[in-house]
Amino acid sequence: MVPANDSISMGNPKAFLTVPRKEAGYRPINDRIYDFGEVEQTLNSSDRRQQASRCMDCGVPFCHWACPLGNKPPEWNDALYRGDWEMAYRLLNATNPFPEFTGRICPALCEKACILNLTEHEPTTNREDEVAIAEHAFKENYVRAQQTERNGHSVAVIGAGPAGLAAANELNHRGYSVTVYEANESAGGLLRYGIPNFKLNKSVIDRRIALLEEEGIRFVYGEHISTDALPEGFEAYVLATGTPDARDLKIPGRELKGIHLALEMLAQQNRVLAGMEFAKEDLVNARGKDVLVIGGGDTGSDCIGTAHRQGCRSVTQIEIMPRPVDGPEDPQNPWPNWPRTLKTTSSHEEGCVRRWNINTLEFLGEDGKLTGVRVQEIAWQPNPDGGRPLMVEKGEPEIIKADMVLLAMGFLKPQHPELPSNVFVAGDAASGASLVVRALASGIKVAEAVDAFLSR
Ligand SMILES: Cc1cc2nc3c(=O)[nH]c(=O)nc-3n(C[C@H](O)[C@H](O)[C@H](O)COP(=O)(O)OP(=O)(O)OC[C@H]3O[C@@H](n4cnc5c(N)ncnc54)[C@H](O)[C@@H]3O)c2cc1C
Ligand code: SF4
Repeated sequence: MVPANDSISMGNPKAFLTVPRKEAGYRPINDRIYDFGEVEQTLNSSDRRQQASRCMDCGVPFCHWACPLGNKPPEWNDALYRGDWEMAYRLLNATNPFPEFTGRICPALCEKACILNLTEHEPTTNREDEVAIAEHAFKENYVRAQQTERNGHSVAVIGAGPAGLAAANELNHRGYSVTVYEANESAGGLLRYGIPNFKLNKSVIDRRIALLEEEGIRFVYGEHISTDALPEGFEAYVLATGTPDARDLKIPGRELKGIHLALEMLAQQNRVLAGMEFAKEDLVNARGKDVLVIGGGDTGSDCIGTAHRQGCRSVTQIEIMPRPVDGPEDPQNPWPNWPRTLKTTSSHEEGCVRRWNINTLEFLGEDGKLTGVRVQEIAWQPNPDGGRPLMVEKGEPEIIKADMVLLAMGFLKPQHPELPSNVFVAGDAASGASLVVRALASGIKVAEAVDAFLSR
């Protein structure tokens, strides 16, 4: 039982000794791979509060430092532990504008930096606590539109991904009249047209956008804005246009039918789920196919989960870099830093051959259609000149049979022309491909800079 009103100042200082970390876990594989519903389950509220009780007053909470938003898990976990869900939401929302997003898809940098991760490798469940607090807040209707007095200034935000939304939200709350221009037909950026529904249901984005609109933010869709023709009538601009260019693999055979950039599949699948129709010949669908995902990161993992749900025959994921160390500790990047250890996602658990140190040489095909990929096992050797490690071949090339390839090798960092002093860049457009939590933090920081610029 969780005491509802305890006098202890922060969490329960003994709970970490008696209450083990408990994750809600995923829906069973043989249930979840037949639909695109969210895979993660939820704990009941008593268990959730018990998990929150494990967050103690640890002196120097490294979670604050690790979270790019500067979220304060000890504060809201304490309120949650005490059963004050509304206070928990207020504390969480003080630093995080959209905890319903990060609570679902943040890799939880804070948990890796948790003191309980250092000692027991059983950190507090901040991310899950975060989404539980956010969902409770929406359910109980204390996430309400706030009306702010206008300050007479107007700002345009270009791009409605997490960075643009965070900047627009912050500026709106500071009294600016904000218009968001978005090239796509709906808001969300990669939240909507990248991250699969099984990680983030799109109704969660719709709910937030409705609130932002109610608070006075204007959204203009289907407008691709160029930096040399910014919309007129605004005193400042926030460019939050993300990383539009995916890294391609221009090797022999690239023109064959069946080779796609990851987002061609992921964005289309999310649009199909939103009710959009595509001609059969335009569908990027893995049904009945042997799929090869090139790129061992998170985008590749999302391709695997999507291919399973589309009914693929098999999935293999290859990566040119070596296999990361097995966790939980990474001697090269020790606590409280993010450990670069092997990550096995819910999509990997659903079935996938994973290989590392594999270079891709050539796409092979018949009658213009992909049939396989010639690959080469390699090794990385230290560079005697001290530069990047050297790639050396190991053994003979081999062929991986595939009739679909998904290229998930990251995105090019955008280059911007010299911009006027009233144009500010936020999110992935500024940093290169990163994380939602960093895009949110960047959007807020840029909004503060715009405010300072227009308040001179
Ligand atoms: C497949 C995939 C899965 C991911 N999974 C995760 C995850 O689980 N957790 C996590 O933290 N991060 C994840 N990320 C990374 C995360 O989605 C991004 O870091 C984040 O969305 C960046 O936010 P942003 O607002 O800077 O850019 P984006 O989300 O890319 O948004 C940019 C927006 O600008 C619009 N735009 C671009 N150019 C113009 C223009 N000229 N005019 C008007 N509009 C324009 C785009 O249409 C888009 O809506 C994932 C990324 C991918 C690709
Ligand atoms: S946003 Fe991510 S890093 Fe920050 S507190 Fe939430 S889960 Fe942790």
